[in-house]
Amino acid sequence: MVLTTEREPEHEVVIEMSESKGKVLTLEQARARADTYLRYNIDTMETADRWKIPRRFNVKVGKFGLAKLLFKEFFKYFGHWETVFSRPCTYGVFSGPVGGFSPRPNLCVGCLRCEVQHPDFVTVTPNGELRALGDKYLTWRHISTIDEEARKGSVPVRGQGYRGRFGGPGFDGMFTDMSEIVRPSRDGIHGRELIGTQVDIGKKPMHLEFDGNGAICNEPEMMTIQVPFLYSAPPTNLDDDRVVEIMASAAAKVDTLALLPVDVVNRLELGGANVAPIVNCAGCEVPEGTRLVELRQWDEQAHDALENKGLLVSVAIDMSGDWRADMKEARLGGASILHLYADHHGLDGEDGFLMDTLAEAHTNLVNAGIRDEITLIGSGGIAGADHLPKAIISGLDAVGLDHSLLVAMQARLSGDTKERNSATVQLPDDFDNAWGLQRVVNLSCSWRDQMLEILGAMGVREVRRLRGEFGRSMRCSVLEAEAFGEIEGYPGGGD
Ligand code: SF4
Repeated sequence: MVLTTEREPEHEVVIEMSESKGKVLTLEQARARADTYLRYNIDTMETADRWKIPRRFNVKVGKFGLAKLLFKEFFKYFGHWETVFSRPCTYGVFSGPVGGFSPRPNLCVGCLRCEVQHPDFVTVTPNGELRALGDKYLTWRHISTIDEEARKGSVPVRGQGYRGRFGGPGFDGMFTDMSEIVRPSRDGIHGRELIGTQVDIGKKPMHLEFDGNGAICNEPEMMTIQVPFLYSAPPTNLDDDRVVEIMASAAAKVDTLALLPVDVVNRLELGGANVAPIVNCAGCEVPEGTRLVELRQWDEQAHDALENKGLLVSVAIDMSGDWRADMKEARLGGASILHLYADHHGLDGEDGFLMDTLAEAHTNLVNAGIRDEITLIGSGGIAGADHLPKAIISGLDAVGLDHSLLVAMQARLSGDTKERNSATVQLPDDFDNAWGLQRVVNLSCSWRDQMLEILGAMGVREVRRLRGEFGRSMRCSVLEAEAFGEIEGYPGGGD
């Protein structure tokens, strides 16, 4: 029997099990065999911004007030020069050559110590230029965080605890169960134990069937990607080959999938195991090595013809229409991979948000007794690392990333950023493929690491087990209703 890792020739590991079967290995043999295993890893590298994101705060210092203070302190603390020259800011905002006369607001973290100490001449205010970025869903906070993740490739550490919302609209309304009690250890996060982030895409039978000779009759038809996210196609109005080239290369490096229009894939010769061409007919030429294609909309004949070519076929379901009926029709017609597309605010055509719509899609499949036969992918509305596990808890197998990838490449989005394919995208002036590739790889690593953090904290050993685990999450609205429902004045509460 020969076991091999799935792909990537340079990583291929072949282990002849028959050699060691039944034998006790010596320590050296065991070590030699252990050395042949490679742990999945994403190589990150700090990649500087091409466009400096606006600073978070503006710091204004009244020159007259500062001069008055210095004059006073000079005589009051004469001889104690350390005191006279001390600065109220430990972050170095007033540590330039002329101190507070020319502050360095880029270093300000907004702790407000200076303003509290010298309210008469120091003012710290939020920078409106930064807050103007994004829209009400993909906010300036998301953009600034994605920018940092794409630059460093690591999990952002603030050292100030969680500063986001406790409750709110969208995914902020879900809390996850991260109990110390269920938490086995942090070893999975530091790599000493395995927490799996692989997901399977394809058709899995609900149970295996065997013939008279014991051979499996209904083998799963699926592929595995190493992370629970893939790269959805860039907006159709973005005509820039560099972006699709970056997505294809990043997908190969991370071992996930890039969904790209088939004509672009063929024209740029991007085909391969990690590129999934988006097609609208069975006759479309797809490059050799393709494992999965996506049909733009359900078409039973095209679906069957593509499957007969040995391809996995994903079917796009536009959630702005009657997605429930479309999903049912595709499912009954034999589709096993369904890709739900919400708008960029995570809403369907009836303004239902992802947490509810995905849960409904997942639960319908569970109730039909066929959940494992279907792979559910969802795109739209994923603006932060925490949205990934929350979308999976809501019922997805894998999550499609779209605008967040462009933000990682420091694209500025303007115009209608809610509807699909409508935002105006402006890339940095000195944009190039190597830079963009590393930024997307860095973001992927950071989001995978944050997924590991949450899985470790929840005591879940692999992301596949998180799918549809509603019981490991809490809804703010439900908790509030439980706590305050009987209090007079609470919406829907007591009289
Ligand atoms: S608010 Fe804090 S970080 Fe900003 S300048 Fe004042 S002391 Fe420094």
